[in-house]
Amino acid sequence: MGYICKLCKGRAVIYMHHHRLALCGDCYVVWFLKQVRRSISEMKMLFKGERVIVAVSGGKDSLSLWHALSRLGYEAEGLYIDLGIGFDSYSEKSKECTVEFAKKISRPLHIVSVKESIGKPIPALVRGSERSPCSVCGLVKRYIMNRFAIEHGFDVLATGHNLDDEVATLLSNALHWQIGYLARQSPTLPERDGFVRRIKPLYRFTEKETAVYAIINGIRYIEDECPYSTDATTIFLKGILNQIEERMPGSKLQFYTNFLSRARILFEREQAQKVNLRPCSICSMPSAEEVCAFCRMVERAGGKFVGLKVTKLENSQTDKGARTKDEE
Ligand code: SF4
Ligand code: ZN
Repeated sequence: MGYICKLCKGRAVIYMHHHRLALCGDCYVVWFLKQVRRSISEMKMLFKGERVIVAVSGGKDSLSLWHALSRLGYEAEGLYIDLGIGFDSYSEKSKECTVEFAKKISRPLHIVSVKESIGKPIPALVRGSERSPCSVCGLVKRYIMNRFAIEHGFDVLATGHNLDDEVATLLSNALHWQIGYLARQSPTLPERDGFVRRIKPLYRFTEKETAVYAIINGIRYIEDECPYSTDATTIFLKGILNQIEERMPGSKLQFYTNFLSRARILFEREQAQKVNLRPCSICSMPSAEEVCAFCRMVERAGGKFVGLKVTKLENSQTDKGARTKDEE
């Protein structure tokens, strides 16, 4: 590539056009962690003494997030949701990467099985529902993540959404002028009536930047895309946004950060009259209607929610062989 690290003058492994910054591996890790710390503090994501759970999927973003939080001193635990997606053994492979990583950093990992908790894995719920696969899966994941965090006493739920994810969602919401979604799109969603705080500490990094962080730190992650993702609109939108970025470097970050600083508040005001939430008459979780969207979908798809079925892997600090590359 031929770039020189701006900080130590060594050989750069990454050049970030939008920051006009080339860095070597060591300086990149330091820079990355600094950015995460900055996002956490600026966006009021985490406070002293709070318990944080990281939703991990076995992909580069969520594993990098868990790694970074651990490096920054947060005693984060992991939550893996076994979706039971069997094509190409997708769920099996992603679980394997997650379990291996949790052992490496010696942190507890909680595994929730969708099939055991609802009676059917995601593909069966998709077949029985009128929603798209990602809509069913997203609904199930959001429900399980929040319910798990509440039932297990976590204050904060962290997810690995990166800049590309956030910008694609923003564009999609803006294309349809989804005012409610625009009002709530933020790297920090404060806790409220039955919902824990949700944070996205990697929101300033592109997919490439989180992948480079994972590779430098020797994190083995699942590279296969979910078999359902091929028809996801998000992938299409990400392609368009990458073309814009190529022509006008920095557009993605600017689009998103300017939305946060200038526009989001307007949508929030518009939504000021809050939706009244009440306990779902079936599962008691907060809902805008008598029966929540999760329970309606599960019933329609012929499933039955019997409570979260959780397996916990302790991975205590005393386990041997549990070190990441940069901790050696
Ligand atoms: Fe779920 Fe869609 Fe993501 Fe696959 S791509 S894991 S179906 S949300
Ligand atoms: Zn419900």
